[in-house]
This record gives sequence, structure tokens and C-alpha cells, in this order.
Amino acid sequence: MKVDNWQWEGAEIEKKSGAGNKRIGLFGGTFNPIHLGHLRGAEEIREAFRLDEVIFIVASIPPHKGKEKVIEAKHRLKMVSLAISGNLHFSTSDIELSRSGNSYSIDTIRFFRERHPKSLFFILGRDAFVEIETWREFQKLFSLCHFIVMARPGSQKNNSSSFLPEALKPYFRYDSQEKGWIHLSEYRIYFKEISFLDISSTKVRELIEKRESVKYLVPAEVEAYIHKYGLYQKSP
Ligand code: ATP
Repeated sequence: MKVDNWQWEGAEIEKKSGAGNKRIGLFGGTFNPIHLGHLRGAEEIREAFRLDEVIFIVASIPPHKGKEKVIEAKHRLKMVSLAISGNLHFSTSDIELSRSGNSYSIDTIRFFRERHPKSLFFILGRDAFVEIETWREFQKLFSLCHFIVMARPGSQKNNSSSFLPEALKPYFRYDSQEKGWIHLSEYRIYFKEISFLDISSTKVRELIEKRESVKYLVPAEVEAYIHKYGLYQKSP
């Protein structure tokens, strides 16, 4: 197995956080619907950072998305459950669904932080990260847990300061040994290149609307569920 800096760094954090303390990744998303890009990304990150568990957090009413296109949370949650059922390291949480109103990552992180204060990693794609300044209390987020930003292959080197939004730069320093950005709180932001399959939920929804196949873009169980409930079909 290739031992790279990410795994080495992971070992360091584990030592600091103490034996027996689980390394938890939180992977938030609308998952409208979940697709193989999400699953492959989560698996690559789990392996690279030696996470014990990746928890898929289904957002209820995403503040950044037009509500009209997002189907009921119970369907999205069920599809996530079906998609992850074969992976012992994956689980899902409905924590954001049990809250009334919009769901905010900061509240979710605070909830899990109480249980895993030192070994908590929030996972998101670069596309989501570039909008982080629009997130609630975004400055505060980085003092609560580590962040892992999944990047497409061939994207800029991870020491490029252009990865960080301007508003964050005063609060971070780059550590060339660790190859990571370190917050004043000592939590890190890691930029990790992954395969990043060229799949999006938008693409899946568009194909379904056009009555075209989504086979091999979503797990077979998810495809069957979508057809069973007639999800994402254009209303006549
Ligand atoms: P939409 O097309 O509706 O905007 P999406 O495919 O981006 O949806 P989300 O549920 O919004 O899916 O994404 C959840 C998280 O997964 C985000 O952090 C996003 O950046 C990341 N992500 C989305 N697509 C991929 C992919 N193909 N590979 C890895 N991560 C992805």
C-alpha cells in the first residue's frame, strides 16, 4: 500500500488524540440523489485518512439550494441508507432532518464534536468549499474540527494560497512538512486529490427527466428506488 503524507499525518493526529478515540468523518450533502461520485470520494478519503467511520449527513432544507428541486428528505435519506448498506465503515445520520427550519453545518459539527472532540473531520468537495464564505458562522467552523477538501485530479498544488478564501487567510499558516493549512486553533484543512468521478446529482436528475438510463451513475438499489417511487420525473 502506498504510504503518503496523508496517512503519516493521520497517524500523528491519532497519537495526539489518544488510543481508542474513533476517527470520524462527517460528509454532508443534499444527496438529491446520492451517486457513485459521493461514494467513491468518501471511500478514498476514509482510506487515506484512516477514518473509522464516515457519517453521511443528509441536509433538510439546504440554505444554498433552490428548495423546489430538492425532493423530500425521507426519500433522500432512504437512498443514502440503501447506497451505503454494503460498507461497514459508512453510516448515515438524520440529525439535520430532526431540526426545524434550515440545517446548518455548524450545528451539526457542534453536535458531533461533543462526542469526538479531537478526531472529527468534515469532508466536502472543492465546489462546496469555494462557497464556504456563505455558510453560517464560517469563521467559527475551522476552530471546531479538521476539514478535508476533496479536489479533482490535476488541480492546483495544495500549498497554493489560492485554495483559501481571502477572508480565511489571516487565520491560517501553511506547514510544508505536514503539507496542510493550520488554523490558529490547530485544526487543519487538508486538500486531497481524489478520482472525483464526473457525476453530479444534477446530471442524474436531468437524465431521469429525459427518461434516460442512470445505470452505473447511482447504485442499483438507488436506481430501483427512484423508479419505484417515480422520483425526479417531470410532472406531466
Ligand atoms: P447537485 O448537482 O444537485 O449540486 P452534487 O452532486 O454536487 O449535487 P451534493 O449532495 O450537493 O451533490 O454534494 C455533497 C458533497 O459531495 C459536496 O461537498 C460536493 O462537493 C461533493 N461531491 C459532489 N459530487 C461529487 C463527486 N462526483 N465526487 C466527489 N465529491 C462530490
